[in-house]
Amino acid sequence: MSASHESRVAGPSLYIHIPFCKRKCDYCDFVSYAGKEGLIDKYVEAVCREIAALTRWRLTAPPLPEGEGKNTIFFGGGTPTLLGPKHFDKIISTLIRHSSFVIRHSEVSAEANPGTADKTKLQALRRLGINRLSIGAQSFNDTHLKTLGRIHGAKQAIKFYHDARAAGFDNINLDLMFALPGQTLDDWKADLQKALELNPEHLSVYNLKIEEGTPFWERFTQPSPANLKPTPLSQRERVIHELPSEDVEADMYEYAINTLTAAGYHHYEISNFAQPGKECLHNINYWRNGNYLGVGAGAHSHLEGRRWSNPNCIEAYMSRVASHESPVVGPETRDPRPETIFLGLRLLDGIPTKHFTGFEKEVDELIKDGLLEEKNGNYKLTRRGLMLGNLVFEKFV
Ligand code: SF4
Repeated sequence: MSASHESRVAGPSLYIHIPFCKRKCDYCDFVSYAGKEGLIDKYVEAVCREIAALTRWRLTAPPLPEGEGKNTIFFGGGTPTLLGPKHFDKIISTLIRHSSFVIRHSEVSAEANPGTADKTKLQALRRLGINRLSIGAQSFNDTHLKTLGRIHGAKQAIKFYHDARAAGFDNINLDLMFALPGQTLDDWKADLQKALELNPEHLSVYNLKIEEGTPFWERFTQPSPANLKPTPLSQRERVIHELPSEDVEADMYEYAINTLTAAGYHHYEISNFAQPGKECLHNINYWRNGNYLGVGAGAHSHLEGRRWSNPNCIEAYMSRVASHESPVVGPETRDPRPETIFLGLRLLDGIPTKHFTGFEKEVDELIKDGLLEEKNGNYKLTRRGLMLGNLVFEKFV
């Protein structure tokens, strides 16, 4: 091994977090901040500095195994498309200089939000090596988009998609959400129909979750006595607040599975559907509890059971990196088995039964309840288990 190769970080998956958004959506609890775009130049410098120092700061970690297949690189957020081409250029050049993450022949994804890039910018990103775009469309219904607090309308989302195609992206994911306030099953059917007309290679469909600390949490949870946490709404209260009932939510999910699989999409993860060969390799690595490095504020890393993360606060992250300190919090070593199980069960193929040693009682109960089944040496969720995934996962936490 040459000296120059020794100083390179070898590994299959890299995540780069871009924590900027034009405005904060009302349901969002991700590490993302609105109104801080003035920090982007400095933030990108910090990200590059962290990439260049990865090997030094992680010297005590075991080396990352070489990826069996393609390397994957994922720019997530936040809204990565708030960065300009010069920022992506800087980060990608740094990766090429200081790491063994190979850009060519890799899956290089970027999350993108309608209204934050035009065709020229998208062309530049494509030329820089980004070959998969994940577009946060969420809905094609203007009323629902407004309720969610999105910055774009349906027309803008559709134009963004066509601009991405015209810019040369031939691997596009659309994110859609269901169980939105005021959304009917017919509204959801219309959203899926529109998505199918666009014919993306990949679709992620998520039910709205009301997360603590968001404006939706204030709106859609019960007020409570001062020292008690607000609680999620009961069925009756969901109806009063115009949130679809749990039955309607289940119907929406089932409709999505039936419609998308009938249209030729491979349902490979609870919420994810892909045209053949277009599954997201980066996320499959997460669900297999694989190794990955995270760079940027709030980014998480996992190496052979050791987990660590960077601070969520942009300023804290940048100041640590600027003073040549590792921004890492941790690492902590945890028993990887529960994570391997509940991440792996998200995949429709499930995971080998050998991972369930010590959980025999839980497995028996889940099989008896019709939530889990054995197939080809794997345990996997049944159709009923897909609908009630949380009941399964909580057994292994
Ligand atoms: S665009 Fe995405 S990351 Fe940004 S606030 Fe909305 S949901 Fe959150």
